[in-house]
Amino acid sequence: MLALTWSSATRRRDLRLAAGLVGLGLLAALIGRRAAIKPDGREGKPGQKQRVVILGAGFAGLAAAKRLRRRQRQRVEITLVDKHNYHLFTPLLFQVASCAIDPYDVAIPLHRWAADQGVAFHRGTVEGVDWQAHRVRLADGEIAYDYLVWALGSTTKFFGNTTAAQHALPLKWLEDGVNVRNHVLERLEEASVARDQSARQAALTFLVVGGGATGVETAAALASFLRQVLPNDYPQIGLRETRVVVVESEGKLLGHMGQELATLALARLQALGVEVWLQARAKEVEPGRVTTEDGRSLRADTVIWTTGVECPPVVSSLPVEHGKGGSIRVDEYLQVVGQQGVYAAGDDAHYLDSRSDQPVPMLAQAAVQEGEAVAENLARLIEGKPQKAFHYRSLGNAISLGHNAGAVEIGGRVVDGFAGWLGWRLIHLARITRFRSRLAVALDWTLGYLYDTDTARLDLVPSQPDHTAGG
Ligand SMILES: Cc1cc2nc3c(=O)[nH]c(=O)nc-3n(C[C@H](O)[C@H](O)[C@H](O)COP(=O)(O)OP(=O)(O)OC[C@H]3O[C@@H](n4cnc5c(N)ncnc54)[C@H](O)[C@@H]3O)c2cc1C
Repeated sequence: MLALTWSSATRRRDLRLAAGLVGLGLLAALIGRRAAIKPDGREGKPGQKQRVVILGAGFAGLAAAKRLRRRQRQRVEITLVDKHNYHLFTPLLFQVASCAIDPYDVAIPLHRWAADQGVAFHRGTVEGVDWQAHRVRLADGEIAYDYLVWALGSTTKFFGNTTAAQHALPLKWLEDGVNVRNHVLERLEEASVARDQSARQAALTFLVVGGGATGVETAAALASFLRQVLPNDYPQIGLRETRVVVVESEGKLLGHMGQELATLALARLQALGVEVWLQARAKEVEPGRVTTEDGRSLRADTVIWTTGVECPPVVSSLPVEHGKGGSIRVDEYLQVVGQQGVYAAGDDAHYLDSRSDQPVPMLAQAAVQEGEAVAENLARLIEGKPQKAFHYRSLGNAISLGHNAGAVEIGGRVVDGFAGWLGWRLIHLARITRFRSRLAVALDWTLGYLYDTDTARLDLVPSQPDHTAGG
């Protein structure tokens, strides 16, 4: 009987799980409960309103739509356009790649989000704009606007390295996260039956190109994942047979972040057995082999590309002034230079902040601040009030460094180890835009902590009829 097989050890474990789940659920609820904004029932006919079209439902687009809806309810109708029907929470994408969370946890459905905010959502791919006619060209039609916001984000940049573009695995979109997850699991399956030593070595070597935040987090997560799953799921593979290598072109990890965080990250990666090659650049990426510019060669079937972004061609080809990576030059109000009533925010905007004399970094927190500032300035423009200059304020940095380790830097102070790991988790839970997704992530984390990591490899393509002959 089921009741009889519920041993005291199992009971204790299940009670721990239940307590953990309830605790995390309550915590996430406290952090993130926000009242959903319902459409304003008193609004007049849509035709009488100013049409604001926001291109891209990423961090900047969502922040702009949400703030504008709150700020100006009577005089605008807002349409959010995106080629996906979900908003992707990119900071946790490396956790999809390392089997820590499910892909659906970081994909926030936009139809529902938009309905809750009182905003129209149109799923479509932006292909261009007719500035004269005030119309955005989509793959499946057109959309008219009075005011326009460009927030289409960025795409992976391979710096002209055609071999990397062909053979490396990018980590930018949700499908990339799932692809890396499947690819890694497939290599482990191959290695566990491989007889040829060289093929086995290539299958068990994982190279991460880029020692920025995404590269460091991915490498640490991958190294922790291997430690966790090999003994139980792939006992034929010894941990010592695996190699995780980070290749970084600069002399330090974590790019724009401070030296203390960079030193911590390096020490933690090394403690996890990750090799860090600084001042090294991947040159040739062939199937099963990578060569660096300084002549090092490595047998590796997995090359994860986490470095470099640039604006998509639809943005970089616009007939406006451009900054780095094809981004759009904006003035202090985040208005596209020479285009009244057209704004850019997030990775698409190139803005040299006059206070710091630095370009605003391509980060989610910057995208959110810019999106909100665009909304405020748009509302002011529509109301005939003077606009406000935008200034970026860094809220600090948080980084995950594998199992039970992380670091948070706020106001120049760094907290690391378990406290840093907990801080990183809470910060990210609070930043996820939807309560249900927060709970899902918290649940996955709790299950991963108490039980084992889910290593199912789902190649999600439609099934084919099985014609296998029997007998
Ligand atoms: C793996 C990864 C991890 C990251 N981790 C962090 C982190 O921990 N902290 C941090 O601050 N930043 C992080 N970043 C950076 C952060 O994700 C970006 O700076 C941020 O997403 C930029 O916001 P955005 O709104 O400009 O663009 P996005 O959030 O990328 O949104 C752009 C939107 O435009 C849509 N789109 C693109 N092209 C078209 C088109 N032609 N037609 C219609 N829709 C289109 C996309 O579907 C997307 O929804 C990370 C980035 C990556 C890739």
